[in-house]
Amino acid sequence: MIQEEQREMMNNNELTDQILSTVRQPLWGIWYVREKLGEGSSSVVFRGEAVRRNKTEYSAVKVEPITAGDMTFRDESQKAAYLDEQFGKVSHESTLLYELKDCPNVVNYKDEYYSDLVIGGKKEGYFFIRRMELLTGVQDMINSQKFTYTEENVRKLAAGIGAGLSAAHAKGILHRDIAPENFYLSGEGKYKLGGFNTWEGSDYVGPEDYMAPEVYRAKGNAAEKYTPQAEVFSFGMCLYQLMNHGLLPFEGNNTTREAAIDRRMLGAQLPPPCDASKEFADIILKACSPEPSARYSTAGQLLADLNALNRAELAPAGDEPTVYLKNPDQLASQDYDDLDGGEDVAYTRPTRKSRQNRNLMILIIIALIALIAVMILGITLALKNNKSSDGSSDTAQVPAASEETSATEAQEATEPNTVTEEVSTEPTTEKPTEPNESDFVLDKTSITIEVGQSEMPMVIGYPEGTSDADELWTSEDESIATVDGIGNIYGVAPGQCDIVLTSAADSSQFVKIRVTVKEKELNEFDPSESPAPEKVDYPGLTYIDGILVANKTYSVPRDYDPGDILPIAQERFNALQQAAAEDGLSLWICSGYRSYDYQASLYNNYVASDGQANADTYSARPGHSEHQTGLAMDINMADSAFAGTPEAIWLAEHCYEYGFIIRYPADKVDITGYKYEPWHLRYVGGELAKELTEKGICLEEYLGIDSKYSE
Ligand SMILES: [Zn+2]
Repeated sequence: MIQEEQREMMNNNELTDQILSTVRQPLWGIWYVREKLGEGSSSVVFRGEAVRRNKTEYSAVKVEPITAGDMTFRDESQKAAYLDEQFGKVSHESTLLYELKDCPNVVNYKDEYYSDLVIGGKKEGYFFIRRMELLTGVQDMINSQKFTYTEENVRKLAAGIGAGLSAAHAKGILHRDIAPENFYLSGEGKYKLGGFNTWEGSDYVGPEDYMAPEVYRAKGNAAEKYTPQAEVFSFGMCLYQLMNHGLLPFEGNNTTREAAIDRRMLGAQLPPPCDASKEFADIILKACSPEPSARYSTAGQLLADLNALNRAELAPAGDEPTVYLKNPDQLASQDYDDLDGGEDVAYTRPTRKSRQNRNLMILIIIALIALIAVMILGITLALKNNKSSDGSSDTAQVPAASEETSATEAQEATEPNTVTEEVSTEPTTEKPTEPNESDFVLDKTSITIEVGQSEMPMVIGYPEGTSDADELWTSEDESIATVDGIGNIYGVAPGQCDIVLTSAADSSQFVKIRVTVKEKELNEFDPSESPAPEKVDYPGLTYIDGILVANKTYSVPRDYDPGDILPIAQERFNALQQAAAEDGLSLWICSGYRSYDYQASLYNNYVASDGQANADTYSARPGHSEHQTGLAMDINMADSAFAGTPEAIWLAEHCYEYGFIIRYPADKVDITGYKYEPWHLRYVGGELAKELTEKGICLEEYLGIDSKYSE
């Protein structure tokens, strides 16, 4: 966590011995530091021991010195400034980890102590001593051949580490060192993410073995390309390796590690990891997509797929895993250095039979893909020939078709009809009545999205002399789909319309994309489990169609005070919270019931700091807040940073199942009078929540009312 050069004068062991000789034990009143357990790049870890109620407890105690090492400075004050800066960076890590203290899948500090590091009477820096749970490192288990390579175990690891990573991303924290070295297993069998490399200003992007291609290719600017999505890739690589006998994609078969990295960084399509079931392999391969846009955008999405898969299966995937001894002949062609021990090693993987079955499946899939590719090529050539004979030049068709086969071959292989259908319908966008003769090349000519969803087609070719700076995107029917300045298409209501990309530099160059917006497909659930809230008889409350309304037009009387979130809303939130937890996400209410007076103080503060016009876009005037009804709540953080987090995505997808709606959607700002608040839930009951969600409308639209202050 600290730069290497600081480590050279006195080594870590000497420094930590020095530090431990100066601190008074027991630490934190009870902990004694015992033998050394291991050494990191900047710290040494010891076993901590304490006796509590006649029971001995153990933990890990990490000692981390901060010194200037052999760096040279102009003078003492420059050195002091440097040390203070380093100290600040390292303590920043504690601050960030504190944010994750409630996440059971993150290795966190239980106790922390820091002080000046004094050597020979002279201050040489600082040190931190941190106590953590005593855990087993996954990499240590791998090295000592104690890791169980079954799909069941790796999925368990994926769920645990994925939950930790997802929690970090939801807080805007990047881990910066996703690798098995930082995965841990607790005594209770829970996998946890540790080794955060989050000290302030850290621009470390993790080891090359697990690095996303876009990060690798950015070289000097790698830190800029390092996003949560890049961490999803790294995480996927770790899972790949664990489901592939410890080998990363393309490794083995006499391919060197460097050559394998080169192939991955050039974006080569990865073969499925050899020990994973088709379903699990699909998840891993999606996480490891070379193209970031084809990847899960968050660890939470990966987790949701994994949980769905786990739920869909009554038993572990594949045949019962068996334990057998490694067969040296079988391994001769590959590098198994990591796994090879002096003695025979117990090593688990699916039975030979299931592997044969899988091989057969793979052959069938390859055959199908080849067949489809030939069909698509044929159709594409036929189309191209048609066009050429019309005297037209390049079209979007060739790249579109070939792109489709490569990106979706695995999934579509089982549904060959879909592919041919899609290809054969493509000419509809080429109807002679709608000239589409441009040099724009898109990765698709039509898209289908659900109401409330968005998708962005990729422009992979531009007319000569133009660039992405000249993109003009328009929708031919904004009541069906809208599009923003960079081509992000958003489904508004069911129907079909064209989105047009025109070149600002040359308006004769344009291309159309046929957009089909479907009704939202909702999950099955029982709306009667979430009854509509009971009507409260209180003078001054406004019910329209039996629904209590609090918005800018309709207010709640000052003395109306339910005192808390109403029991039905609280109970349904608890159910929602539990379902989210099962998907590995933690949701909590950060603001529930608010009295009139409390809302008044909130609003007045916003007005004072931000002006009334701004405040009115995100804070209700007293008496107009839904929070005063006891039916509204803010989840996790009332901040725009919540948007796009796995928690926000999950909430938007599932809240109706528990009778809630996202009250202020992104595309209803003009109607609700409030900016997008992905965190603000309103309880309306299952029936209504389902209807509003299905139709993609907000409460004002449903009731035919407005939301405007009278003055
Ligand atoms: Zn709110």
